[in-house]
Amino acid sequence: MGLALEQARLAAEGGDVPVGAVALHNGMLIAAAGNRREADGDPTAHAEILVIRAAAEALHRWRLDDVTIVVTLEPCVMCAGAIVNARIGASWSERWTRRPVPSAPAIRCSPTPG
Ligand SMILES: [Zn+2]
Repeated sequence: MGLALEQARLAAEGGDVPVGAVALHNGMLIAAAGNRREADGDPTAHAEILVIRAAAEALHRWRLDDVTIVVTLEPCVMCAGAIVNARIGASWSERWTRRPVPSAPAIRCSPTPG
């Protein structure tokens, strides 16, 4: 969570909503990102989307069922959908308990974009 929080801090310095995320594979860090909507002028550049893209690139596959992501804030609807579509194995945030995403139909979504 510490690195995700650092990514959130960097996002805030760039004028973005302070959200950070990291991806772990076999306990090793494979991706880290913070929100970059303002920095990139990209409405989809949420930390979770960026970290999912980086993890898929690192592993050379889109199915990430053995990847865990850690996010500093509950994902928004777009990111929750991306987590499900990437088959992320598990997701953690300060406000979540561990929840395997594919079997978690009741993903709680924040009204505040993450
Ligand atoms: Zn989001």
